[in-house]
Amino acid sequence: MLNLEKSSQAFAQAKEVMPGGVNSPVRSFARVKCDPPFIAKASGSKIYDIDGNEYIDYVGSWGPMIVGHAHPNVVKAIQEATTRGTSYGAPTLLETQLAKKVIELMPSIEKIRMVNSGTEATMSALRVARGYTGRDKIVKFIGCYHGHADSLLVKAGSGAATFGQPDSPGVTKGTAKDTITVPYNDIEAFVNLMNEQGDEIAAVIVEPVAGNMGLVLPKQGFLSTLRKETEKHGTVLIFDEVMCGFRVALNGAQAAYGIRPDLTCLGKIIGGGLPVAAYGGKREIMDCVSPKGPVYQAGTLSGNPLAMTAGIATLDIISADPAWGKADYTRELSIKTKHVLQGFAKAAKDAGVKVQLHQAGSMFGVFFNENDVYDYATSESSDQEAFGVWFMSMLEQGIYLAPSQFETLFMSGAHSDDDIVKTIDAAEVAMKKVA
Ligand code: PLP
Repeated sequence: MLNLEKSSQAFAQAKEVMPGGVNSPVRSFARVKCDPPFIAKASGSKIYDIDGNEYIDYVGSWGPMIVGHAHPNVVKAIQEATTRGTSYGAPTLLETQLAKKVIELMPSIEKIRMVNSGTEATMSALRVARGYTGRDKIVKFIGCYHGHADSLLVKAGSGAATFGQPDSPGVTKGTAKDTITVPYNDIEAFVNLMNEQGDEIAAVIVEPVAGNMGLVLPKQGFLSTLRKETEKHGTVLIFDEVMCGFRVALNGAQAAYGIRPDLTCLGKIIGGGLPVAAYGGKREIMDCVSPKGPVYQAGTLSGNPLAMTAGIATLDIISADPAWGKADYTRELSIKTKHVLQGFAKAAKDAGVKVQLHQAGSMFGVFFNENDVYDYATSESSDQEAFGVWFMSMLEQGIYLAPSQFETLFMSGAHSDDDIVKTIDAAEVAMKKVA
């Protein structure tokens, strides 16, 4: 039995001083039957809690830790950077270096602005899209999560879905009315909407691979229809690759699916575990951003030197620094991910449990559902109780998964063959418990 005594005490104290005891809702483990382990340290593929438990970690800080925790290159780069000061609020060479690196990897980005969180990136991308087009309305897809800016907390996924609050109190009706929602993968509904209102829509924002209603893949023709229709109506197409960027493929979902968006939002991996995100895209749109253009957006800590350093070190590793001898880092992660899912599939089959297993690069997910999952409604129809049993059994066996079926799991370069064998062994036990 998992001993979480110290974590539970720490959680009780945290709840006295922070809403729900956490600084981000899903960390509270509210939808599963245990208190959250309080983490003391992490290294490689493992995290360790204050009770002394060790876990193989497939949350990876919700995506950023693609090279594993405390990777020596990243740690060394950050340590060295701290000796030169932690923030200047003035231009540095590091910002241009990271910008160039990202532009090299994602050629649809001609100019980029660094910010501190994915929320800021999507919020700012929408503002510039509105400034550029002179239009107010935006389209988002139900179950996609783009951070917690007001206009995007409408039918949102991730924690909002986990807590049954896809629409948040505090978002004014005035704000929400300019956000039009369409079911993910519903090509017909989208085309109809664009036929009716396309010329009034500033931007369409989408997770090209959706990771916030569990992992849901775009159907064939979905992304290309978004591109075609937005082009036709002069609407800005925004790919929110905060989660899937550098994961679905090194050059992003946009490369994997062969679509060139007008703007792209990045986050998570781009900061290598420190708070960085970015938005960027077509030069003529990005040139609307202040001080080059009139659309205002700023940040005291934007482009922070430590954060830039961690991002550069991380992108250097995954973009095949030959010193690491990896031909294609992201493809190797994909292969490892596939092995885990093959193990899960066998474990489920042997136990007679019906699951839908999804993978996109090093992102993966398990739905306890006998039917296809392709949008928010089908994701929501999955068996939450079965998920809870699966989650708890895996945790008890030292496998740390996201505590909600509406989240995605992440493989890192630090996960070893031994980790994968242990994970599959644990899955066999867990699936039997679900059955
Ligand atoms: N966009 C996507 C696709 C995300 O998954 C997230 C967070 O999980 C965000 C935006 C918001 O990023 P942040 O939590 O850094 O504000």
